[in-house]
Amino acid sequence: MEKTPYRKTDKTISHLNRQYGRMFRKAAAFDELNIIDISHEIYDEAYELAEQEAIRLVRSVYGSYSRDEAAAAAFDPVAFVLALVLAYNPVTKYVFKNEIDRKRARFAESMLAGTLPSEEIARAKRLLAATNAQFMDDVTFDTLIQAYRDNGAEKVRWVTAVDDRRCKQCAARHGKIYPINNVPAKPHIHCRCWIEEVAE
Ligand SMILES: [Zn+2]
Repeated sequence: MEKTPYRKTDKTISHLNRQYGRMFRKAAAFDELNIIDISHEIYDEAYELAEQEAIRLVRSVYGSYSRDEAAAAAFDPVAFVLALVLAYNPVTKYVFKNEIDRKRARFAESMLAGTLPSEEIARAKRLLAATNAQFMDDVTFDTLIQAYRDNGAEKVRWVTAVDDRRCKQCAARHGKIYPINNVPAKPHIHCRCWIEEVAE
């Protein structure tokens, strides 16, 4: 099996997944007066951690795939992530930072409207975890493109994961060659396809 760039991504996602329980513990003491504040505390912390971990992930992925020392020295993982959190994502069809705040607002509403707070908390944790995991996948893919571009690659080859998580929608793209400046967006969320540099 080919080496997937998402192994680092999986580690980042697992690390984040271990934090949500602790973060949402604050919600146990909610009432209608403090739920907005509590929701901000939880989601601000979650957002900041995701941003931090994304920067770490970008640094790591870029470091593994970059071969141009001068470009690597000039590459700024912090600026790269700060741009991505504010960018419209054609795969998810939202801006990551806005989506986190939308999830926060919905969580606060659901805590007030719901009959079982523990279920609302469990659902909010799942949704937040999924949004963050998707972001880490997209960050990984975009970092690959950046590293290859900095390496001077002009073309890349689409690679579809050949395992039980393989996405059928992507099979048609397997092996296709794209110009580095015209790599199509992934066709669906949870896509774990990646790209490889094509030697000229
Ligand atoms: Zn795919």
